[in-house]
This record gives sequence, structure tokens and C-alpha cells, in this order.
Amino acid sequence: MLCTEKILTLHQQHFGQTGPTFLAPGRVNLIGEHTDYTGGFVLPVAIDFCTVAVISPREDGKAVFFSQNYMEQAEYSVGELAGTPRPRGHWSDYPAGVAWSLMQEGIALGGFNLSLSGNVPLGAGLSSSASAEVATALALLACAGVSMPQEKIAVLCRRAENEYVGAKCGIMDQFVVSCGAEGHALLLDCRSLDYELLPVPEDVRIVICNSMVRHAHATGGYGNRRDEVEAGQRALQQCRPGIELLRDATLEDLEACADKMPREAYLRCRHILTENRRVLEARGALLQGDLARFGALMAEAHISFRDDFASSCEEVDTLVEIAQKLPGCIGARITGGGFGGCTVNLVKKDEAESFMQAVREQYKAATGITADVYICLASAGARAVK
Ligand code: ADP
Ligand code: MG
Repeated sequence: MLCTEKILTLHQQHFGQTGPTFLAPGRVNLIGEHTDYTGGFVLPVAIDFCTVAVISPREDGKAVFFSQNYMEQAEYSVGELAGTPRPRGHWSDYPAGVAWSLMQEGIALGGFNLSLSGNVPLGAGLSSSASAEVATALALLACAGVSMPQEKIAVLCRRAENEYVGAKCGIMDQFVVSCGAEGHALLLDCRSLDYELLPVPEDVRIVICNSMVRHAHATGGYGNRRDEVEAGQRALQQCRPGIELLRDATLEDLEACADKMPREAYLRCRHILTENRRVLEARGALLQGDLARFGALMAEAHISFRDDFASSCEEVDTLVEIAQKLPGCIGARITGGGFGGCTVNLVKKDEAESFMQAVREQYKAATGITADVYICLASAGARAVK
């Protein structure tokens, strides 16, 4: 657990003030990959890695951000943050974007000092970005004396990342970081934003393995895949009235329109349509406590992501294959954008430590790479630290 005392002390040392403290977790997606931007279903959990924000007011209209992770400060004026986004290509774009987004919503902000400190690994796919954004939003709202539903906070933080930072992310990250609950996964309908909390059994750990590889198409890849999916979605909209988003289509619709779209678009859409089905089935499995079924769905999801979505890679496939053979492993699959990054594994609590060691050893032997492995619990969403 991150030491909130430490960040409070640093804030005091840096700004000479104390202030209220807020916390937002990282997240991992159990199943439902690349389904969010076509209005489908995702099933992420908030994890026990987090970002903490401390805030105190200042009188001169400046907005000053300090990150303990970077040991660096960035200064803006509240006035400039109220205008057109001018991202600096710097970590402070994330909290600055949140201030911008809140002001776009009509929330009046005065000057402030805001410190951030997180133990969510940066850029590893566990959503340190949404974690930093949502912690920032809670701090800024408290400073402004405004309360807001957690769901709305998620939407405003996503806007910050899309429109201020300029990252093309879906709503999943900010939503589960904001609205997650201890011991639960969150099933989110990415169109309506209706959600449901589903129990994760107490004797299960969520083990995240970072393959430590990120292949060249990783950056362009998200864009390309998204373009391919959207091309398929457009073809479906044209040949089947009533399809507003890909998620409205059935596999039968897709088959019927297959010759109206490029082969790649067809395959990417097939992944998404089968994935939406798997997420809903995974919901049933969790409600019934049928972990074996849940694990089988994770395995199917991995194969679909690897073959139809064509977005895995050798190292990640190796990580998944190693995991699936280990004692206590309920399910394993790639998670995140693809072409490298992390796998998510459901593992029996008592086997989690030995699982972690065995994965690291066997992955090292197979690839020469030492994986980072994190054993996590399904945790609560963003909140004030008492
Ligand atoms: P991910 O969300 O998978 O960790 P991203 O690239 O989306 O990766 O976001 C990572 C970026 O978020 C970091 O490079 C940094 O700019 C910003 N960020 C996250 N946490 C912090 C923090 N504690 N302090 C400052 N910036 C942070
Ligand atoms: Mg991110």
C-alpha cells in the first residue's frame, strides 16, 4: 500500500501547507478487450495500487502541480487552463487536463497546489493515467466545494485524456477507477454507462504479469485496429438498418455483411462480437461462482484476441501458455491494447506466490526476459483518505 503520510509530508515540505488527501486505484481488465469504443461490454477491476493527491489553495490564481514520481513541479495559471487545451507533452497534461475539463463543466476553480504520488507502474497498462486523473478530480472538486457523482467524474476525466492530453482512450479506465468496489469486478455497458458490481471470490488473487515487451505497432496498432473495427461497423450500419454501434450487430449480421468489408475488418469485428458475448457469460459465471467457466472464457478471449484481432505477440502468448499450466491458475489472457504489455491471471490465493515465482522463472528461461509480476486484490474505487 502506498504511504499517504509520505506524500502529505512531501506536499508540506514542497508547498509549506497541508491539505486533504484523495486516492484513486489503478485497474486491470479481466475480460472485454477493445469492446469499449463500439459501445460494448467490459469487465475490469480496480486494484490495490493507487495514486494519491493532496491539495491546498493558493491566492495568486496559479495552478501548480508537483509529482513525487517525477520529483518535478509544473506551473500553470487557472486562467490559461480555462481556455483552449495547450498540452505540453508533459506528465502535467493529465492533471491540467482534469482542471480544464472541470472548468469546461462550469466548475469555478481558484488557485491551488496539487501533489501527486502513485505506485501504479507508469505506462505499464494498469492505468496510472486514469488513476492520476481521478485522484486529481476528487482533490479539485473538494477544493472547489463541489460534489459530483463518481460516474460523472469518470466521464469528465475521460474527456481530459481524450481532448486535453490527446489520447484516444475509451471510458473503461476512468469508470472503474472511479466506481470500482472492494471485492468486486465491474461490468460496464460502455454505451449506456449502466454498470453492475460482481463478486470476485475472496480466495482468488488477480495476478498481473508484464511481458516487458511493447512491439513497434503498439502505438500505431491501437489506431489501426480501431480504424479496422470502425470500417466494419460502418459496413454493418449500411447493410443492416438499426445497427447504430457494432454492439447492436449479431454474428449472423456480420456473416451476412462479410463481403461488404475488408477481411481484416470482418475478423476484428468477429473478435468484438464474440468478446461481448463472453463478457456477458463471464458475468453469469461470477454470479454463480463458476470460476472454471470464467477461466475457460478467459482462454477463449485470448485466442480470439490473438487470432481474430491479431494483436498479441509471441512473448505474451508464451506468458499465457506458461500460466495456464501452473497449479492454482483459473484463467489467463492478454489484457490491454495488445502487441505486448500485460497478462491478467486469476489464481487461487494460496498458490499466488508460487505462481508468481514459477511464471517469472519459466518466462525468463523461454525468452531471456524478467517479467514484473503483481499480485492484486479487487479494490475500492476513488475516495477521500480519512
Ligand atoms: P498507463 O495509464 O498504462 O500507466 P499512460 O501512458 O496512459 O500509461 O499514462 C502514463 C502517464 O500518466 C505517465 O507517463 C504520466 O505522464 C502520467 N502519470 C501517471 N501517474 C502519474 C503520477 N503519479 N505523477 C505524474 N504523472 C503521472
Ligand atoms: Mg493510461
